[in-house]
Amino acid sequence: MLHLLDQSADALRAWFTGHGEREYRAGQVLKWLFEKRASTFEEMTDLPKPLRDALAADFRIFASSIATHRHAADGTEKLLLELADGHRIECVLIREHARRTICISTQVGCAMGCVFCASGLDGVVRNLTTGEIVEQMLQLARLLDADDRLSNVVVMGMGEPLANLAALLPALEIAASPTGLGISPRRITISTVGLPPAIDRLTADKHQYHLAVSLHAPNDALRNQLVPVNKNIGIQEILAAADRYFEASGRRLTFEYVLLGGLNDQPSHARQLAALLKERAALLNVIPYNPVAGLPYQTPSEAARERFTEILTRAGVNVQVRLRKGDKIDAACGQLRRSLVQQAAGVSQPVTPHRA
Ligand code: SF4
Repeated sequence: MLHLLDQSADALRAWFTGHGEREYRAGQVLKWLFEKRASTFEEMTDLPKPLRDALAADFRIFASSIATHRHAADGTEKLLLELADGHRIECVLIREHARRTICISTQVGCAMGCVFCASGLDGVVRNLTTGEIVEQMLQLARLLDADDRLSNVVVMGMGEPLANLAALLPALEIAASPTGLGISPRRITISTVGLPPAIDRLTADKHQYHLAVSLHAPNDALRNQLVPVNKNIGIQEILAAADRYFEASGRRLTFEYVLLGGLNDQPSHARQLAALLKERAALLNVIPYNPVAGLPYQTPSEAARERFTEILTRAGVNVQVRLRKGDKIDAACGQLRRSLVQQAAGVSQPVTPHRA
């Protein structure tokens, strides 16, 4: 059986013509999926019954099931989805005023090895398919009231999105398409540790997605320790690729900086970071770290955080401290999956997030 959400609109139209049907039927199916959030072909009542049966014989709509569903008091909801092969991924719905933001995963695990991250602790297992990425969006949309709509997508869950562009880009096209979720590309954020060739591909393809680069350190020596993949790249290469994206897209860049107590939160770090960012049209998101069980990293003190942000602000950097959402439900990437795996293995200590 094929995964319906893995099919392009062209492939779906071809299926209908191959079954002696008119192409517009594909549009009807897409409307049922993305507008009316149907989960079965039976619900698609403007399709003739034999056609619904033929679709059900060839396709499944959802290839995953909800293994765990958690709610936080602030309206955040988190799903742990079990994929067809038994692997588990996480996705989150964040309600904030009128915004309905979803955070989605692109890989099972992650190969980037950021030392403070729950997702990367066990390495990468595999890339997600386009259908598995779209499915997270639909599963989260189905948590909303019928008259409520998703407004923003951040690709900031498990995995390095730019390491799986082949599956991600078609999924984001569906998110942005009027026949898909209809979310403006300008409300879609791709978060990356910074892979210059992949950033250059986004630039060359003239995408309008918002790019968020996770720096986490203001110099290569420290970044090599915190984000090991940096050893093969280097901050200047990443900044240069990000600048090219900015020049081509006109989209202001965001830089992410997880603030680790006593490690990258010193005034000297703030000054180095200011020197890197002050001439750039960029927003800096500072994310105070939340400890992960078994890892030696600490939350920064409030005084250190204030000193850090003040130095940057004084230097002219646009800084924002990002509040964590859904802490009580392990809302950071990789965290719920890992805490459940640990529970199953009899490890009782709670796992907490690496980023907001
Ligand atoms: S922080 Fe992101 S890029 Fe780094 S290991 Fe975790 S999921 Fe991968």
